[in-house]
Amino acid sequence: MPTRSILDRLSEGEMLLMDGGTGTELQRRGVNVLKGTSIPGRQYTTSKGVTTQQNEGVWSAAANVDAPNVVREIHEDYLRLGVDIIISNNFYTSQAMLAIIGEEDRWEEYTRLGGELAVQARDEVNAEAYVAGGFAPPYAGDLRKEFEGQARVLAQAGVDVMLPEYLTGASVHDTPLSDCITAVEACATAGLPVLLGICNVSEKGTLMRGESFQELMVALKGHAIEGILLMCSTPEAISGCLPSLRKAYDGPIGAYANLNYAWEKNPKWGSSPDEPLNVLDFGEYTPKRYAEFASQWKDMGAQIIGGCCGTTPEHIEALRPIIKP
Ligand SMILES: [Zn+2]
Repeated sequence: MPTRSILDRLSEGEMLLMDGGTGTELQRRGVNVLKGTSIPGRQYTTSKGVTTQQNEGVWSAAANVDAPNVVREIHEDYLRLGVDIIISNNFYTSQAMLAIIGEEDRWEEYTRLGGELAVQARDEVNAEAYVAGGFAPPYAGDLRKEFEGQARVLAQAGVDVMLPEYLTGASVHDTPLSDCITAVEACATAGLPVLLGICNVSEKGTLMRGESFQELMVALKGHAIEGILLMCSTPEAISGCLPSLRKAYDGPIGAYANLNYAWEKNPKWGSSPDEPLNVLDFGEYTPKRYAEFASQWKDMGAQIIGGCCGTTPEHIEALRPIIKP
């Protein structure tokens, strides 16, 4: 367990390095992240007004049960590179998402394993690193109940901070902004600090559906939030949004981008078990190029920087000289 609290380090202005992709890294290492993708997905309208039937099944959740050693190995690989924060593999370990593969009754087990594998890796490699319990809204069900459950089980598993992520994306619960409030309130019930992960921000400096960061902060006023991270958006979009976020919010901010992972670039993704979910080739976003973005984000005030879908240990290694000079 870390001797210093993450909040103290952030309030002292320290930069913290976070891990890179876990789900995409599982796929790269041969683990099946396609379970449930053959089941027709929900209708989904993108920020560009295009309706698709995106369906990522249970994504990386099944790996906690099917390939726990690979999950732990990925955490350990990132920790050996010197990251300060790893995110547990809990993106879709909610009851409603596991229902896609008929495993809804085992959600506590999938969730607990995600937390425990991350905590074990941390204890093994670097006791001073933090484990963030990271989970996304399910596309059905009761968001508050699901997030309270994820937070409770992950707190019991020993994580240090809650990271409800992928917020303001495809909301089917309430409005994207009220989902953020629900997420923060639900996660706070576990008694740990809460960081909020906002996804799919736009290059124009707004949230996915055009809301401003000012509106987000008005909505979150008075809620116990310890930091805001922009995540699973293109590096360009994060560069476009961090200045607006900085202006609207004076607490700790950060970023972890995805690399060329937008469905628009691979419109068939997940539409059948034969169609790989993603473009594992990170193309133009080499580790060196990603580090150039990270350097911009640092100048824009980001204190926590890591990577989301498509980023690899090599990308995180390239960030280290910038975050920890
Ligand atoms: Zn992502």
